[in-house]
Amino acid sequence: MRESEPAIQRGAETMPADDTQREARLGNADRDLVALGIAAAAIILFVATGSSVLPSAIDAIFSNGSGPDHLLVNALLLNVVLIIFGWRRYRELQDEISERRRAEGLARELAEIDPLTGCLNRRSMAAATTALRLRAQAHGSAVAYCMIDLDNFKQINDMHGHSVGDAVLVELAQRIRRQLPKDAHLARLGGDEFAVITTHDTSNRDRVDDLVIRLYEQVSLPFELNGVTIDPTVSIGVSSDHDEQNTAPVSAAAEEAADALMHRADIAMYTAKKQGKNRYFWFEATMENELRFRNELEAGIRRGLTNGEFVPFYEQQVDVQSGELVGFEMLARWRSTDMGIVSPEIFIPIAEEIGLITQLSDQLMDQALVDARDWDDVLTLSINISPIQLRDPWFAQKLLKSLVKHNFPAQRLEVEITESCLHENIGLVRSIITSLRNQGVRISLDDFGTGYSSLEQLRTLPFDRLKIDRSFVSELNEPGGNSKIVDAIVSLGRGLNLPITAEGIEDEEILTALKAMGKLKGQGYLYGKPESAQDVRARLAKAGMLAADSNVDMPLQSDAQKPESAPEISALDHRKVAGQ
Ligand code: C2E
Ligand code: MG
Ligand code: MG
Repeated sequence: MRESEPAIQRGAETMPADDTQREARLGNADRDLVALGIAAAAIILFVATGSSVLPSAIDAIFSNGSGPDHLLVNALLLNVVLIIFGWRRYRELQDEISERRRAEGLARELAEIDPLTGCLNRRSMAAATTALRLRAQAHGSAVAYCMIDLDNFKQINDMHGHSVGDAVLVELAQRIRRQLPKDAHLARLGGDEFAVITTHDTSNRDRVDDLVIRLYEQVSLPFELNGVTIDPTVSIGVSSDHDEQNTAPVSAAAEEAADALMHRADIAMYTAKKQGKNRYFWFEATMENELRFRNELEAGIRRGLTNGEFVPFYEQQVDVQSGELVGFEMLARWRSTDMGIVSPEIFIPIAEEIGLITQLSDQLMDQALVDARDWDDVLTLSINISPIQLRDPWFAQKLLKSLVKHNFPAQRLEVEITESCLHENIGLVRSIITSLRNQGVRISLDDFGTGYSSLEQLRTLPFDRLKIDRSFVSELNEPGGNSKIVDAIVSLGRGLNLPITAEGIEDEEILTALKAMGKLKGQGYLYGKPESAQDVRARLAKAGMLAADSNVDMPLQSDAQKPESAPEISALDHRKVAGQ
């Protein structure tokens, strides 16, 4: 197995200096000249003294001679002892050395091999990459580095336990290993991250593409573990040290170059994740800007959370027939000190990925409950919930606790979940929805039609409302003013006894078309864009829709430090910020 032979394959050029010195010391001890010298000297002395003592002794026995000199006899006996001692010492030393060699071999293997999968580890992969690059350069070929990351591994671990997670990693390693050409190495760099290095022709990268495609075919075959079916998918990033399309070839000092190769593959893999996972990308220089921008966003989100830069905005929800205001949907905004107002489409997915979505949502919801308490009792508040929040078995309890803390009636709250939540642990989602509904909170299925919810889920999950995604509603302003999908969803809602909200009502044509469809709620820019808490408050004060006990002039916590005129950064604009 190639990847279990790093110490043998590495050769002297990659062996660390202390390893080389230790090996030299062991080699000397192996041929322990001192012990051997003592034994040899003793043998020579034995021959010398023996040649004088033995004839005298024989003479004494057979011809009554005077016998050997006592001193010589003693010297002879001492020689015998010395020979025995020297020989035993020499044997012991030999045994000690081979034992030590075995132990050191084992220690080196443990330091270089991932014990779970038997692949190389991060440290030995770096050495293997350097060595392969040197060999490839000598033969005029190039080295490609493939960074392979299992998609949704955390979910596998969370849902099925770590032993299943480990078994998935072992299976994955075996599947990859079976596809590798002779010159390739496989490493597990940590967690669910694997790496493969292989050589390719400098003028042709097809060999690498073929390998990656073979990996996809094999890796994504479903398999059974403890009665659970796993459908693994991976995201792969590939870089090469001979890449003419990228301005800076990887040509620095050997170890730095190996690092750069890995770094580039990592960036490409990251892009594959961003683009929806289960795909592969070759590294391109522009990807680096994207990553830099993303790192800045991550740091900004962490800072923003501490500084209270995330605030709720509110979009009006209206009865389509009467035009009467019935409530607001809370939509998160980031008032970033560097970037102005940033759209949730940019920061929510990142907050989800870096594990801050719960903290962020809690902050926003606390503010929203404070804001909405002052509105008229007839007005509802809708909040959006991330699928990740629904993985928390205590989610319903925590939310109900917040309602009690802010003295906010559960009947006024509507929770919007998207269809992607239904891919999560559906049993848990069902129990969360049921607990919330039992307390009077209503549940809407947001962006309906854009995901993959089945009719069965619609029938069995206790939703209170469907929200038609604005991509379908916008079809209503095309000539003729009809959309088969909107019609179908409205009839479906009616059939299942589910009220409907239409999103994205941007103009009168859409409104007229919707009015013809019967009783609906609606929201969209025709009624107004999402507004700050302060603007909503002013609007409600004018309409006489603030709760009787609220103080109209009271400054709002969420509007403390706002650069109101800052432009909003949308998902499209962020590319410009990233310099792309
Ligand atoms: P959503 O829940 O479907 O919210 C509706 C989105 O459509 C909002 O975008 C709103 O500003 C936009 N919109 C409403 N009417 C119109 C219209 O007439 N024309 C157009 N072009 N757009 C309209 P926004 O605020 O950028 O939010 C985007 C998404 O981000 C939301 O989609 C929601 O899924 C998510 N989101 C927002 N706030 C939160 C939050 O606090 N938590 C979570 N988990 N997700 C949030
Ligand atoms: Mg929504
Ligand atoms: Mg929506």
